[in-house]
Amino acid sequence: MKNVESKTGRAWIEINIENLRHNAETLKKAMQPGCELMAVVKAQAYGHGAILTASHLNKLGVRAFAVATLDEGIALRKGGICGEILILGHTEVERASELKEYDLMQALISFAYAEALNHQGIAVKGHIKIDTGMHRLGIACGELSSVRKVFFMENIKVCGMFTHLCCSDSRHPDDVSFTKGQIASFYRMADALRDSGITLPKLHIQSSYGLLNYPHLACDYVRVGIALYGVLSSPDDDTVLKLELRPVLSLRSRVVLIREVAAGESVGYGRDFTAGRDTRIAILPIGYGDGFPRNLSGGKGSILIKQYVVPIVGRICMDQLAVDITDAEDVTVGDLATLAGASGYDQLSVPVIADNSGSISNELLCRMGARLPVITR
Ligand SMILES: *Cc1c(COP(=O)(O)O)cnc(C)c1O
Repeated sequence: MKNVESKTGRAWIEINIENLRHNAETLKKAMQPGCELMAVVKAQAYGHGAILTASHLNKLGVRAFAVATLDEGIALRKGGICGEILILGHTEVERASELKEYDLMQALISFAYAEALNHQGIAVKGHIKIDTGMHRLGIACGELSSVRKVFFMENIKVCGMFTHLCCSDSRHPDDVSFTKGQIASFYRMADALRDSGITLPKLHIQSSYGLLNYPHLACDYVRVGIALYGVLSSPDDDTVLKLELRPVLSLRSRVVLIREVAAGESVGYGRDFTAGRDTRIAILPIGYGDGFPRNLSGGKGSILIKQYVVPIVGRICMDQLAVDITDAEDVTVGDLATLAGASGYDQLSVPVIADNSGSISNELLCRMGARLPVITR
């Protein structure tokens, strides 16, 4: 598989395993002693290929993973992934036997959910989710007695307890004080449980920005997603810890057709682009069906071919897009194009592309995972 796509493929994702290794090592070093990296590999490891990414991380000694769904967890096990796998989202309790069969840990997203899962009569492992202010999933941080009861449920082995920070990416004083409040309420809950005689399970709070902005926290795990893939969510994000992380993913395609368009003629749907001069257009067989954002149409996006940065013209289609190569004279059919990430000459930053399209790196990356093959280099 390795080099086939890059020779014959229409479009593909290329993963730099050395950069993944570098990021995992860098993040581990930034964590407090005793804290383990839990690699978040949901949504095809943010487009990087869940099994591919997780198996490389396994080889590097990473022993804990998080996914969003039961089926993602099962896929990892079927792909030979060892270690702990935590499902962060909801799993239908009727599927409890699969949690057991594949040795997956389930986030216990409310007290009622934990009760319903317990009532299935199947021994499962869980991590109790505590809601400290995000108000998405979790048992409210004031409900000590409910949380306590979960520890005594017959069919649930509580292996962890965690919360999720909702504005740890921000360094605005209001957000910092809100985040500190979230952290304090989580530890208040943990202390109260300990005081009531409960042996605490593994505790975890931080995701990528939680680590980068609150690196002093000494938990058992850090759930790292976006930082593992070597990018921040947005280009202007500033963090307390400034780690040298390296982008792992590059998005590539090839020129399949070159055509001449006379001044005054249009290109693409809606005749959105009209050539102001005689123009050479290159067509690439990649589009929004591959996760490349359609709203980079109309002059908002550029890509790399050889040493040239060439503008996307007209509307990006589901499976094709057009670039203006008038000033890139030696571009020919078959030339490699880089739409995100590194090429030999330059770098198109994922956070910048995401920002230009009105989103964040996380969304841009995970959308790429839907149709494209992933290769390593
Ligand atoms: C997705 C997710 C993460 C990873 O977040 P990043 O910002 O990508 O590091 C961590 N924890 C939970 C609960 C998540 O849903």
